[in-house]
Amino acid sequence: MEKCEIAIVGYGGMSKYWHVPRLLEMQDEVELVGVYDILPEKQQQLIEEHQGKIHAYRTFEELLQDKRVELAIVAIPNDAHLPVCCALMEHKINVICEKPVALNSEELEQMIRCSEENGVLFTVHQNRRWDEDYLIIKKLYDENTLGPIFNVESRVHGSRGIPGDWRNTKKAGGGMVFDWGIHLFDQLYMLTEWDEVVSVYAVLSYVTNEQVDDGFKVLLKFKNGLECHVEVGTSNFIELPRWYVMGENGSAVIYDWNVNGKIVKVTDWEKRDAVPVATAAGLTKTMAPRSDETIAEEPLPRIPSDIKDFYRNVIRAIRGQEPQLITHAQLRRTMKLMEAVFESARRNEVIHETI
Ligand code: NAD
Repeated sequence: MEKCEIAIVGYGGMSKYWHVPRLLEMQDEVELVGVYDILPEKQQQLIEEHQGKIHAYRTFEELLQDKRVELAIVAIPNDAHLPVCCALMEHKINVICEKPVALNSEELEQMIRCSEENGVLFTVHQNRRWDEDYLIIKKLYDENTLGPIFNVESRVHGSRGIPGDWRNTKKAGGGMVFDWGIHLFDQLYMLTEWDEVVSVYAVLSYVTNEQVDDGFKVLLKFKNGLECHVEVGTSNFIELPRWYVMGENGSAVIYDWNVNGKIVKVTDWEKRDAVPVATAAGLTKTMAPRSDETIAEEPLPRIPSDIKDFYRNVIRAIRGQEPQLITHAQLRRTMKLMEAVFESARRNEVIHETI
């Protein structure tokens, strides 16, 4: 495959620690022709950190006029995505935008229109579709390992509040719904193969920040009956498991990013083994732990994945060799879902809408 010539807009955390190293690892397939950051000190940083081997565009115009650039990756604060992506597409440059793609559906529609009018590809870096923890849950779901799954809890917990500057502001599209919610909602839609969400209830938290949410709890119901609890917290000094999944014949848990966890399945439904346990001030059979004879513990499957397949898909899609994986229809759905989350939290009501 002919090498794809790529430029990056932004040299902040995501660009420096993620896109640049990934693209440098793919030198047989891509060429990183340059990076543009609006701050001269970031341009200088790029030059020093890469000994001048990566070109630092001095102006955005210089990048726009660089005829080599086939694809640009936009990794800048959320409120700047729209104008920058549209300017690139108007110059016939294909675009990968960072998530969340935009601040609302109207902005997203402008971006999609711009890509259609200019005949260029436009997609978003929903990289967490390649996370192993998610892929394990997807496999359990698809293969019915736990029997039909009726409840999924997806959580990410930190204890440092909202990081950085712009993420703390409403104007720049900060807050955890936009920052992490988008990943978790996208994963759940992927899990259910884009089944419809039929109701949404959301509570946002403002422990460390007044302007934007520093966490949230969202209850989603899918048309197929699946119930999901999605939670992001940034004041959690003890974190709850990343995933907790319940099927009719067992449960699975993934504790952390290293995908430590387990599956526990019932082996004998018939055997009524419940011996009441005494708690400090009472007796319970219902909540008594199961005895080892009626359950079996299994390790989680391991699922290797390669995030470079995301970039490869975009390049092949530009060249008409395969469809783009992260589609406009999907972006519209996740954006509508985030809007319903904000609306539910504002009204403190369940939103009954098909999304
Ligand atoms: P950051 O604050 O670390 O970096 C942003 C950079 O953009 C800064 O260097 C800033 O000077 C530059 N910039 C701002 N406006 C610009 C403009 N108009 N043109 C060129 N440069 C400009 O932020 P970050 O953490 O790198 O986040 C950037 C984007 O990446 C955000 O949309 C964020 O949500 C996303 N992100 C995605 C993931 C993921 O896993 N997909 C992870 C982290 C961040």
